[in-house]
Amino acid sequence: MAGTFDYVVVGAGSAGAAVAHRLSADPELRVLLLEAGAEDERPEIHRVDSASVLALLTSEWSPQIDWGYATEPEPGLNSRTVPIARGKVLGGSSSVNALMWVRGARAGYDGAVANYRQIVLAAFQQVEDNIVALRVLDSELGHDQRASAEADEAETLATMQYQAGTTDYTAVVVAQNTALAARRAAVQAARDRQVALVDLVSALGGGWTAQQLASK
Ligand SMILES: Cc1cc2nc3c(=O)[nH]c(=O)nc-3n(C[C@H](O)[C@H](O)[C@H](O)COP(=O)(O)OP(=O)(O)OC[C@H]3O[C@@H](n4cnc5c(N)ncnc54)[C@H](O)[C@@H]3O)c2cc1C
Repeated sequence: MAGTFDYVVVGAGSAGAAVAHRLSADPELRVLLLEAGAEDERPEIHRVDSASVLALLTSEWSPQIDWGYATEPEPGLNSRTVPIARGKVLGGSSSVNALMWVRGARAGYDGAVANYRQIVLAAFQQVEDNIVALRVLDSELGHDQRASAEADEAETLATMQYQAGTTDYTAVVVAQNTALAARRAAVQAARDRQVALVDLVSALGGGWTAQQLASK
């Protein structure tokens, strides 16, 4: 990439992406963020269910997003080596982690930050507010997706009953319309959640712009 930069940040993981985002908030500065891994295109990276999180590091494509580190053979483990996961992808290890949130221990900030309450605690609370807001949206989306699945099942049942001669065709049409409406509601809920997620991540100061996230 041609040009000169005021700052070069190496690694678009948790720390690098946040630092580059904060620096580039100043329009006077040119900031280059370098990442060794590829784009975070795999859908599993953007899901939060446990199966997707497990797949991130155990599937055959995991070498595409992991550095593949392992310990030396461990004498205490019958000379086995132990894999040490580290994300090699846009977002770094935050793209492959388990999404568990734990506040840093207060003692860890002693001496490093003058005003713990205003700076560190306020940042923790901002993260937690965003997590709560996202959970509400997840729950609404889950509700709409379950309603859609149930309406699909009801449609299948009505069709089978019609074929067996135990219901009339009107019941099938009603079930079809209900299922269609439920599917549309679930799609809309997914879109609403995506838009809100973009807003939340932008507010939090994540490494991606709202436009980049919206294109995913
Ligand atoms: C499997 C797993 C599960 C985890 N679960 C949790 C959890 O649930 N909750 C939690 O709070 N924490 C969790 N963590 C820890 C957390 O994700 C990390 O502590 C955090 O992401 C580290 O941030 P970082 O910026 O130091 O490094 P990273 O986010 O790993 O970023 C480093 C980036 O630098 C890039 N890079 C390295 N060398 C170069 C180079 N020479 N040139 C260009 N780019 C380079 C890497 O590819 C990577 O993208 C987990 C970590 C892993 C691996």
